[in-house]
Amino acid sequence: MKEYEAVVIGGGPAGLTAGLYLSRYGLNTLLLERGLCGGQIVNAGRVDNYPGFPGGVSGMDLGQLMHDQASKFGLNFETAEVSGLKHKNESFEVITDDETYKTGVVIIASGSNYRKMGIENEERLTGRGVSYCATCDGFLFRNMDVAVVGGGDTAVTDALELSQHARLVYVIHRRDQLRASQVVQRSAMSNDKIKFVWNSVVARLEGEEKLSGVVIKDVKTGGVSRLEVSGVFVAIGLIPNSDAFRGFVELDEAGNIPTDAMMRTALPGVFAAGDIRSNSARQVAAAVGDGAVAAKSAFGYLKGG
Ligand code: NAP
Repeated sequence: MKEYEAVVIGGGPAGLTAGLYLSRYGLNTLLLERGLCGGQIVNAGRVDNYPGFPGGVSGMDLGQLMHDQASKFGLNFETAEVSGLKHKNESFEVITDDETYKTGVVIIASGSNYRKMGIENEERLTGRGVSYCATCDGFLFRNMDVAVVGGGDTAVTDALELSQHARLVYVIHRRDQLRASQVVQRSAMSNDKIKFVWNSVVARLEGEEKLSGVVIKDVKTGGVSRLEVSGVFVAIGLIPNSDAFRGFVELDEAGNIPTDAMMRTALPGVFAAGDIRSNSARQVAAAVGDGAVAAKSAFGYLKGG
């Protein structure tokens, strides 16, 4: 069994910041990430609201910069998915498929994943017209008609972004009011290429080799209609990556981890940071702040403070 003073789970902005701080405290620290470091910003074309980059920065570049900075100060990285955690005496065991790591503190910064609609053909047509990332795939739909599903900030900013490529963008929302912030709403409402389809959900995805259209259902009248679109961008929120921690730390109803202001969970020695945390602001700047606070708390815990 490998042993580290601290283990960080997740390589998004929260985890990378926690790892940077812990390494700079001089702790032998491991960061476990199952995919690419950078977290969800890797999918963001440009991040405009992270301070220090007045001209914006690509999500991919920002993730890489954070990774390189943490690495420079000695943070150890391994690519592995955590399947469970155990509490043993005064320490913890972090379990992955290939290895178990013993550590004195754990910072969970495992983030969240896209919520799926859970309808027939969704999986089969993913990458063939169905997408969860407008920034990644939007350019594929130049001069075509597309739809976005959802009414939050992601859906509406996706619609705005897609309007730069597509001919027409439908926003299919299950209510008649958006959840997105006012400034984003106003931009979308005044955009001629964006059409709102209220009180509606996608009932069916059509197409063999690729998506050819969607059948939508009006949730008030039960009426069904069809939209001929080449792309559907699903933006109906996020699901926390917390399954591996169920039964180990307390989770709230949504599956996020409650913490206090110092990022302490109910279990001493275990901290949470970023999107996985209950009531997270879900912003890169907030995740970075969480990561720094979690590391400071973890260091204090190890030093008996
Ligand atoms: P969100 O705020 O949770 O919104 C999800 C949207 O999807 C809601 O409109 C919801 O409808 C709808 N929805 C949920 N489940 C659905 C289902 N099964 N079928 C159909 N519709 C469904 O998620 P988000 O937009 O991804 O945003 C997540 C967080 O990131 C938010 O805090 C947001 O402010 C933040 N964010 C910020 C920015 C920014 O530019 N600052 C950009 C993106 C995201 P209801 O409204 O009816 O619940």
